[in-house]
Amino acid sequence: MRRDPYEVLGVAPDAGDGEIKKAFRSLARELHPDVNRHDPEAEEKFKEAAEAYEILSDTERRATYDRYGFEGLDSRGFASAAHGFGSFADIFDAFFGGDPFGAFGGRGGAGRVQGGDVAVEVEITLEEAARGTTAQVAYDLVDACERCGGSRAEPGTQVQTCRNCQGTGRVRAVTRTAFGQLVREHVCDVCGGEGRVPSEPCTACGGRGRRAARKTLDVDVPAGIADEQRIRLSGRGHAGERGGPPGDLYVLVRVAADERFLRDGNDLVTVVDVPAPAAALGTKVGVPTLDGDEEVDVPAGTQPGTVVTLRGRGMPAIGRRGRGDQQVVLNVVIPRNLSARQRELLSELRDTLTDENMREDESILSKVRRALR
Ligand SMILES: [Zn+2]
Ligand SMILES: [Zn+2]
Repeated sequence: MRRDPYEVLGVAPDAGDGEIKKAFRSLARELHPDVNRHDPEAEEKFKEAAEAYEILSDTERRATYDRYGFEGLDSRGFASAAHGFGSFADIFDAFFGGDPFGAFGGRGGAGRVQGGDVAVEVEITLEEAARGTTAQVAYDLVDACERCGGSRAEPGTQVQTCRNCQGTGRVRAVTRTAFGQLVREHVCDVCGGEGRVPSEPCTACGGRGRRAARKTLDVDVPAGIADEQRIRLSGRGHAGERGGPPGDLYVLVRVAADERFLRDGNDLVTVVDVPAPAAALGTKVGVPTLDGDEEVDVPAGTQPGTVVTLRGRGMPAIGRRGRGDQQVVLNVVIPRNLSARQRELLSELRDTLTDENMREDESILSKVRRALR
C-alpha cells in the first residue's frame, strides 16, 4: 500500500513549498542511516519520504497526484527516482548532492553544494558489446533553471540576504521551560536554509533555481564492455546548488544474454551437438560466431567434451587490440528413440567392436584440463 504523500510528510493538502521542504528535511535528518543503523525499516521509510517529497515538490507531479492519485503519476510516466535507487547513500546523493549533513541547511548561505549523481540503465546486445555502440539513454534529473541560470531570481532582479535569518540560514527559537531556557535551532523557513532570497522569484522555476527535466543523451559504449559495467559521464547529473557543480551520470550497461554464446571474460563459449556416429566417422559442423557462421572440422573419433578453439573469435578487450577466443565445445550426442532398423545397425556395430576401438588417445579429464588452460 502506498501512503498518501501528504500523510507521509505530515503536511496539510494546501501546504506551501517551503513547508514541504522543511517537513522533508526534518524527516530526512531523523531517518539518516548513521542515526538509524539499528532500524532496518529506516531505509524503506526514507524511500517513502523521498518519494513523497519528489511528488509534492514538483508542481506538475503534485497537480497530477492531486487530481488522479498514484495511478495518474504511473500512467503519465512519472517514474520515481527514489524507488529506482539501490541504497540510502544514492538517495541522499540524488536529493542533496553529496554530504547529507552539509546539505541540510546547516551551513547557511555559504556552501556550494555539488549536484547529486544520477544512475540510468541501458541494455545492449552481445553483438553491440562486441562492436561498440552508441546507446541512447533518457533520464530525469534536477537541472539548473534556464531562465535564471540557477540564481533563483527573475532575470534583472536581485538576490538579497534573508532578513529572517540574517543570511545564516538558521533560526534560533528560545522557549522557557520549568527546567530553564531551551534553545532550538532550525532551518530558516523563509529562505529554506540558503541565507539568500530573490527579491522576485524566477517565474520559470518558482525561485528554486532548479527544475525537473528529462534529458536524452547518446552514450558511446566501448567495444568489449561487460555486463554491469558502469560508464561515468561527468557533469551530466543533477544541477548543483548555490553555484555548486553538477553531479555525474552513471550509465549501468546491461549486456543481454545471448542464447548462442556464454561469455567468459573476453572468451566466448559455444556448445555444438554432434551425433555420435558422425563424431566417430568425422564430419564438419556449422558454428555460430560473432562474425557469422563458420565451418569447423570434427575429426574422426572425436570424443564428448572435445573443445575446439577458434582464435580471435571472442570479445575485444576495452581499449586494447585483439580479441579473445571462442571455445567450441563438441557435445557428442548418443542417438535416442531408435527405430528397429537403427537398433539392428547399432547391434551389428557393437558386435564388431574391439578394445582397439575403445582405446583412448587421451583421457577426457586431461582434455578438459587442456581446454581450461
Ligand atoms: Zn529560474
Ligand atoms: Zn533565511
